[in-house]
Amino acid sequence: MHIAAVRAFALYRPGTVGHYGGPYAALVRIETDDGLVGWGEADSSPVVIKAIVEAPFQDELMAGLASLLVGQDPREPAALWPRMLRGTSQFGRAGAALQAMAACDLALWDIAGQAAGVPVHRLLGETRRSRLEVYATHPLGPTPEASAAHARTLVARGFTGIKMGWAPLGPDPDRDEAFVRALRDAVGPRVRLLIDGGNAWDAPAALERCRRFAPYDLTWLEEPLAPEDTDGYREVTQAGPMTIAAGELCSTARELDALSEAGVGVIQIDISRVGLTQGLALARRVAARGGRIVNHTYTHALNLVASLHLMAVAPAVSLCEVQANPNALGAALFPDTPLAEAGYVRVPTRPGLGIAPDPAALA
Ligand SMILES: [Mg+2]
Repeated sequence: MHIAAVRAFALYRPGTVGHYGGPYAALVRIETDDGLVGWGEADSSPVVIKAIVEAPFQDELMAGLASLLVGQDPREPAALWPRMLRGTSQFGRAGAALQAMAACDLALWDIAGQAAGVPVHRLLGETRRSRLEVYATHPLGPTPEASAAHARTLVARGFTGIKMGWAPLGPDPDRDEAFVRALRDAVGPRVRLLIDGGNAWDAPAALERCRRFAPYDLTWLEEPLAPEDTDGYREVTQAGPMTIAAGELCSTARELDALSEAGVGVIQIDISRVGLTQGLALARRVAARGGRIVNHTYTHALNLVASLHLMAVAPAVSLCEVQANPNALGAALFPDTPLAEAGYVRVPTRPGLGIAPDPAALA
């Protein structure tokens, strides 16, 4: 079996520039000579990803990913990762090139699973769990009161964990605390509450937020700092009174290992930026340091499904992120998005990743 074709799709929902909820998609389709088709996704700028996949072969350090993959055996994705890493060395080794590699890696694992007739998680290791506890992510409103109303709606929809954050959090400690207090008051003591700082602070300001938010029993405070501020994360995790989560913007194992080594207890892996090959190795190293992984899923169901395969086998996981907001492009592309039932989402059991975009929607 060999790879016959690799194609990328850059999709945008018209009229949604700046909108929340993934109104764009960067998809990769890999086809084999005997007709298997695998799909991957990158949460990144779709046109940039398409260029990295479809750029021509220039030389052994400057090649589009398709030119590196066509003709190769797709059934051992981990063996193709170093080939993609070296072939993109002159423009890659981080950022968008890694994100494009992640999309190809997901499509390769999809094919490997289909070729073996098993769900991808069976190829990744021992299955440790068949379902994961869900939390729902939703943006804050403009005021604490409006945010509390969103939170009550989510609880009424059956979610037992809720994450809100980003702006207007940031400039004013009193107002930040007012948002968190309003959310805890709205959801009551038994619903998990997670706060996303959205890279808003430096270490001293983050430590002040940790102290102010401590009475509101947060499951974690997410991304209080910029992802490259590992010294700041070390300061906050050593002195701070609560669990810190970070990593969603990272695409290399080097960046994520640095956060884990700095004491970040919950490492957020966006599988559509990291890929399953890197993600699996990372999950083992994080667990060996006493940490846990969790998915970061902002865009589409392919990301969620691929994440579930990793989290089915990872040694230590914490919850599972789903987006609570409507996503019209995602709903059209992936009508069979897994849904949370009674606070849990099931690990897929079909061969491969078990999900592909709807052909009519794609067209
Ligand atoms: Mg976040």
